[in-house]
Amino acid sequence: MTQELILNQRIVLASRPNGAPTPENFRLEREALPDLEDGQVQLRTLYLSLDPYMRGRMSDAPSYADPVEIDAVMEGGAVSVVEQSRNPNYKPGDLVVGQTGWQTHSISDGALLQAVPKGLPSESMAVGVLGMPGMTAYMGLMDIGKPKAGETLVVAAASGAVGSVVGQVAKLQGLRVVGVAGGADKCRYVVDELGFDACIDHKSENFAEELKQACGDGIDIYFELVGGKVFDAVLPLLNPRARIPLCGVIAQYNAQGVAEGENKLPLLMRTLLTKRALMQGFIVYEAYGHRRDEFITAMLPLVTDGKVKFREDVVDGLEQAPEAFIGLLEGRNFGKLVIKVSNA
Ligand code: NDP
Repeated sequence: MTQELILNQRIVLASRPNGAPTPENFRLEREALPDLEDGQVQLRTLYLSLDPYMRGRMSDAPSYADPVEIDAVMEGGAVSVVEQSRNPNYKPGDLVVGQTGWQTHSISDGALLQAVPKGLPSESMAVGVLGMPGMTAYMGLMDIGKPKAGETLVVAAASGAVGSVVGQVAKLQGLRVVGVAGGADKCRYVVDELGFDACIDHKSENFAEELKQACGDGIDIYFELVGGKVFDAVLPLLNPRARIPLCGVIAQYNAQGVAEGENKLPLLMRTLLTKRALMQGFIVYEAYGHRRDEFITAMLPLVTDGKVKFREDVVDGLEQAPEAFIGLLEGRNFGKLVIKVSNA
């Protein structure tokens, strides 16, 4: 039996960016969805997550994951509802998370889908504070950062998806937490709403000096999300045996080739040696995918009890995804960036 024709809208990679992505690097297409085969489910996207790693997938430079091919659907995680199922593990109405891409509908064999945890105040949290970014923050902090009460932690992109959770969980562990964010509004939110002890604006002319003043006892954990001038300002403030979970360097994602200016590598190596500091890179699903249950068990009550707060920047409509993504790399988002693709 042939099913009703469903038109899928999808955003594909039209060309690879040189430097910052532009709208011309993306193309919106429409296609009819094929009929379901045995074992498959048909999904309708509710919330598409936009994340900085997608910039890496647009480039064919060597990385830990394959690039998106030209003319292929942009990669991305999303919360979806099962609309039709020929898979015994799923029924219409089930809510799932999966790497289903920048599109309104998708077809899956179900193998890599995860159920949205029950009892969430909003489904979009499954790609935010209770999804990939939250897990990155929690596991990277606890496993590599190894926080101890009384220590000082610094994290940039502090109002964003990962940084906001890093700082709040560190506060719950009894640390002094200093955030870094772009602009007065974000800094105010980080201190007043999220409860950080201080937040320094990286756009300030005296940024490095202000960070030093805010970290009177030095820095024991620097949760690295941005690189660039924030890292330069942090380096001289590191305490002996500091830990640096190396999670992201968003300030460098649009860079072409090697950054200009002074070579900081000798200083970095000398600092790591003399401070006996640990710097460890990690990719969340590779390092911690098998510990998702542990993360959900720890984080769900913190979120539902209001001990970990979160902010979402919700943009309406799949066609807005390219512009919203370009803005993410410029710091225009305020909170976890998601695209609302359709209603539940
Ligand atoms: P956010 O929600 O924090 O959004 C990105 C933010 O980065 C912007 O809002 C902006 O905040 C900040 N930013 C952008 N450009 C710069 C710049 N040049 N200098 C300083 N800050 C900048 O994103 P996420 O929380 O999702 O991601 C944060 C980092 O974590 C990224 O580097 C990402 O790649 C990494 N990550 C790594 C994972 C892993 O497995 N290793 C998994 C998930 C994320 P502001 O305006 O405050 O500067």
